[in-house]
Amino acid sequence: MPNGIWVLVEHQDGKVKKISLELLSAGIEFSKKTGQEVGAVLLGSGLEEAVNSLTPYADKIYWINDTLFIPYTSEAYLAGIVPLVKEHQPSILLGGATSTGKDLFPRLAMHLQTGYVPDCTGLSIEENGKLTALRPLFGGKVFAEVGFSEVRPQMATVRNNVFLIKEHPDRSAQIISITPSMDSSLLKKKVVGFEKAEGTKLDITEADIVVAAGRGIKAPEHFKLIEDLADVLNASVGTTRATVDEGWRDLKDQIGKSGKNISAKLYMAFGISGAIHHVLGIGTCKTVVAVDTDPNALIFNYADYGIVGDLFQIVPALTEELKKVLAADR
Ligand SMILES: Cc1cc2nc3c(=O)[nH]c(=O)nc-3n(C[C@H](O)[C@H](O)[C@H](O)COP(=O)(O)OP(=O)(O)OC[C@H]3O[C@@H](n4cnc5c(N)ncnc54)[C@H](O)[C@@H]3O)c2cc1C
Repeated sequence: MPNGIWVLVEHQDGKVKKISLELLSAGIEFSKKTGQEVGAVLLGSGLEEAVNSLTPYADKIYWINDTLFIPYTSEAYLAGIVPLVKEHQPSILLGGATSTGKDLFPRLAMHLQTGYVPDCTGLSIEENGKLTALRPLFGGKVFAEVGFSEVRPQMATVRNNVFLIKEHPDRSAQIISITPSMDSSLLKKKVVGFEKAEGTKLDITEADIVVAAGRGIKAPEHFKLIEDLADVLNASVGTTRATVDEGWRDLKDQIGKSGKNISAKLYMAFGISGAIHHVLGIGTCKTVVAVDTDPNALIFNYADYGIVGDLFQIVPALTEELKKVLAADR
């Protein structure tokens, strides 16, 4: 009988990504209900630190140790994971709704001949181990509850910030180191290099707080105001397509239909009208704050808190006030 709640662990520069710890924390909660083991699967060599940091979050860590997995390619990952899943038959296999998850999971589901729910904003489990996934549709306007047939594993990718990270210091996972028997000459894809995006901030899809400005910011140099606010809040900076089209900001920071979906705990929109194409990307943010000079701006329909006013007055005042409040808190 399939048994095990498995999470595919993502890592960067030898460190485990936050989304993977969120999913493992959820896995532990599910395991309390179903009695299943929690398994963390990670691939790559030189990951001793990452593997050790995972021990309070799982019962077993399957470490497929080979240089072939760094940098990531779907081809190598499939060759590493598919035999492991077939051998152990976990009941559930989860991953982040990240660029890796979005690339890998549909392929994995196809190779494992099982069902997969992408881009979830919630998961729940019954005592018999049946998973239900919550998935936003139409930019978060409606949510579909999706169940699985009897085929296993039940697979889903989940957005950032859906689950809280909870370490279990009483746990100490067994580490199972696996040397894969792969013929590297059969792998046709090769990553020849990386170009790092400028800046040190988290990607907007991973950030807890995103502050964004649209065309209301009027000139690219005025984004300094938004960057200053972001620094105080340890936030990432997003934007609209209007500013990307103007060449003021990079496409990687665009939120919306032709940009990225974000699931921040706090989203702050300055000088953004709230066109449907934009708000499609913020449907699962927990709290939305909007500032716009136009009291009829559509963004206010999606905001929990709204200020009708000039961003050039409000943003610097907010930054200064937050600096004081946060300094007093420390
Ligand atoms: C197929 C398609 C896909 C698209 N995909 C996307 C997408 O992914 N993401 C996206 O964002 N858009 C997308 N768009 C574009 C979208 O329809 C809007 O045109 C765009 O979101 C508008 O951007 P904006 O809010 O920055 O600009 P505007 O609509 O021009 O709004 C600027 C706002 O700033 C306010 N303002 C002006 N001055 C100030 C001030 N001093 N202080 C405060 N407020 C001020 C104005 O009142 C206004 O509300 C798409 C469009 C199409 C057709």
